[in-house]
Amino acid sequence: MSRIGGNLASGRAALAAALAAFGLAIASAVPDRRTENLVLLTLDGVRVQEVFGGMDPVVAFGRSKRSGIYDPERARRLYWRDDAEARRKALWPYFWGTLAPQGVVLGDAGRGSRATLRNPHGFSAPGYLELLTGRFHPDVTTNDARRYPYPTVLQAIRRGLGLRPEQVAVFSTWDALGLFASSEPDDLFANAGYARVPPALSNPAMDALGDYQEHVMALWEGYRTDMPTFHLALEYLKARRPRVLYLALGETDDWAHARRYDRLLDCLRLTDDYMRILWETLQSLDGYRDRTTLVVTTDHGRGRTPKDWVDHGEGIAGSEEIWIAIIGPDTPDRGVVGPAPTVHQADVAATMLELLGLPLASLPPEAGPPIRLP
Ligand SMILES: [Zn+2]
Repeated sequence: MSRIGGNLASGRAALAAALAAFGLAIASAVPDRRTENLVLLTLDGVRVQEVFGGMDPVVAFGRSKRSGIYDPERARRLYWRDDAEARRKALWPYFWGTLAPQGVVLGDAGRGSRATLRNPHGFSAPGYLELLTGRFHPDVTTNDARRYPYPTVLQAIRRGLGLRPEQVAVFSTWDALGLFASSEPDDLFANAGYARVPPALSNPAMDALGDYQEHVMALWEGYRTDMPTFHLALEYLKARRPRVLYLALGETDDWAHARRYDRLLDCLRLTDDYMRILWETLQSLDGYRDRTTLVVTTDHGRGRTPKDWVDHGEGIAGSEEIWIAIIGPDTPDRGVVGPAPTVHQADVAATMLELLGLPLASLPPEAGPPIRLP
């Protein structure tokens, strides 16, 4: 077992380090730890099937006409390859070509790795609350946009590092996440739904995006598209230099609910480009270069069959299957990890604290433990 934040080779030294980290949870600072900034990226409702296998033959070539592919030739040309590794690389060339080799990716059942939920619901709000607070909350049972009284890891990081609220920034396509992200208003900076960045933190680029976002028609009512969310976050990153950025994209879930598998694949391909621009920007800036860890994950999986891949929730098998990628200067360069012990969505919060050298005690004792690698 080794700390995810370690480069320890293996065997006894790694075991000793893991035990030390457990035994000295309060003193989790490690001498060679390099992570000073953290970027959390969530992609709503993205299945393990697409992450690890690209275009899914079960959905795309099932006998049922339920895939939602309007132009099969185009989809096949763009995304179909004969083996799963080539397919996932066709869908996410930057993630698999550049990011994954600099970190670890958990949740590939084919390699004996499982990432799953503590909450039994398999839909967004319970998942984001679990992710952000490190535990399952039985009272989070709807997607209603409301603030919960549970402090999040983002708040714990702000206090732990002594940051100003605007140094912990949340940009979200879904308005509700702006509320889920902190138990207290104004404890961090959140821009969600169609909100504009306030003048004190904005600049001409962010102001322009605030105008344009009204002119991009989203697939469903109520949520903006990912384009303004992403670019607002990027401009904010460059101008305001937050130590923690939580970027929550949501369009992948929308295309799936619309039963447009072809457009879901296009959206995932676009998301890879967002990941490329994000990482290249981080590596171009002093203060972020080689000192930033990126965590990428999802709130829930979805159904596995040609009929129910569009949906997710209790009773839909597959909704509990998630994946977690951690890329940065302190993660071993291993790509897909497995076989590995099962990890949970609730374990991400403590992992984030550990990456930043903060005491695990700033989360409640019921919170999931930091992720350990085999
Ligand atoms: Zn959904």
